[in-house]
Amino acid sequence: MGGVSPRRLLRWFRAAARELPWRTEPRDPYRVLVSEFMLQQTQVERVVPRFAAFIAAFPSLGALAAAAEDEVLALWSGLGYYRRARLLHRLAREVVADGGSLERPAAELVRLPGVGPYTAAAVASLAFGERVPVLDGNTLRVGARVLGLAADPRSAPGRRRIAAWIEGLMEGAGPPGAVNEALMELGATICTPLAPGCPGCPLAIACAACAEGRPESYPPPRRRRATVALRWVAACCVDGEGRWLLRRVDEGPFLRGLWLPPLVELEAGADPLPEARRALHPIPAEAPAIAPTVRHSITHRRIEIVPLKFSVEPAAPPADAWRWADPSSSGLPTSSLLAKLVAALDSLDREP
Ligand code: SF4
Repeated sequence: MGGVSPRRLLRWFRAAARELPWRTEPRDPYRVLVSEFMLQQTQVERVVPRFAAFIAAFPSLGALAAAAEDEVLALWSGLGYYRRARLLHRLAREVVADGGSLERPAAELVRLPGVGPYTAAAVASLAFGERVPVLDGNTLRVGARVLGLAADPRSAPGRRRIAAWIEGLMEGAGPPGAVNEALMELGATICTPLAPGCPGCPLAIACAACAEGRPESYPPPRRRRATVALRWVAACCVDGEGRWLLRRVDEGPFLRGLWLPPLVELEAGADPLPEARRALHPIPAEAPAIAPTVRHSITHRRIEIVPLKFSVEPAAPPADAWRWADPSSSGLPTSSLLAKLVAALDSLDREP
């Protein structure tokens, strides 16, 4: 199995490809780059509207390089994984300082900030026509199924096998980027993890998993990383006009660069109130109201957050990294956690 006609695959792709805003012809390397950064760990439906807003604000690598980090993070809101935005911004500055062109082979693209082998291969093949296979979750799944690969496709031997298969498809089959993109599209729309649509698949005729009648058993399941439970307190100061006192997260492994009420991790059995008061010092924080617990996940961490509402008089923010802001329209980069905290505090007002 695996002796697939690449022409059949490309014909299918030309007819079935979704219209996406970065799929312009000819491909714009900057748009390809931004889309690939955004698509790392984020669904395409969530990326599309944010991509449009981001490109409208920063239409070129030069515009992105010239922007302030806060502006870039604000336009990244809703995509999560803000580290990607920071790395993309750093990349833009480095490339602009180096002459401004992204055109370089995948082996060099991979040295840029935030660019792993997957993003390098996608940009090099889609924007510059380099014959280099893209190995992402979609192409690895399609490859594992077509080849009937017993090994884990994410292992080094599995990846080598699938890379060689994709390179074979690229031989004389038109632009290498189109082969990569067709396989990514097939994995995203037809050869999905559950219930793959084999009857409508252009590769079905040569697919080992389909011939066996059990495509979903490839690739073998991966062991999940154990989840970690954490408990935080959120010290939410709200003034009489509904403005919140937000602080930029400058330390720790989570949410860096985002504006949120002070958050403190609680040890087992710890009382949240003294921790919240310590985080707010020197702001006078009298008896708070306790809002319903908020649940939030960051990668494999499941976090329970106790929101404490302190009603305070408006006063000058204690330092640069603090601001009073309307939490629903601050224009500051933040996390979806802020909206959850706002909803939790709103529920206090609705209680009898
Ligand atoms: S035939 Fe089925 S299992 Fe094989 S590649 Fe196509 S959708 Fe995936």
